[in-house]
Amino acid sequence: MRSLDGSGAGGPSGAAVGGAGVGEAGVAEAGAAEAGVDEFALDGNAIGGMLMEVFGTDMTTAVGTCASCGAVAQVAEFSVYMPELGIVVRCRRCNAVLMVFVRIHEVTCVDLEGLASLS
Ligand SMILES: [Zn+2]
Repeated sequence: MRSLDGSGAGGPSGAAVGGAGVGEAGVAEAGAAEAGVDEFALDGNAIGGMLMEVFGTDMTTAVGTCASCGAVAQVAEFSVYMPELGIVVRCRRCNAVLMVFVRIHEVTCVDLEGLASLS
């Protein structure tokens, strides 16, 4: 014989919906600050001393041109990030990497590929 399902519907249960409840306690209104790197962004002044060591002159007032978007700005205005491996300098407009400094065995390696010019 066949046994058909659906014999006897379960009684109505859990119908506690309804009721004007505006009691949403503590709606966290964070969210704006996604773990962005901006939080850790410094500016060119932060690496002024290091630049002085590498270039032998104060580079924070030097003017660099972004090879990616053409933005022209003083080194002091660039975004600077300092992860463990080195220092990364980015364009504030397009975020392209302008300069990279990596310290290996007391020698600072410099990569200026992202700059169209620096003077
Ligand atoms: Zn740029």
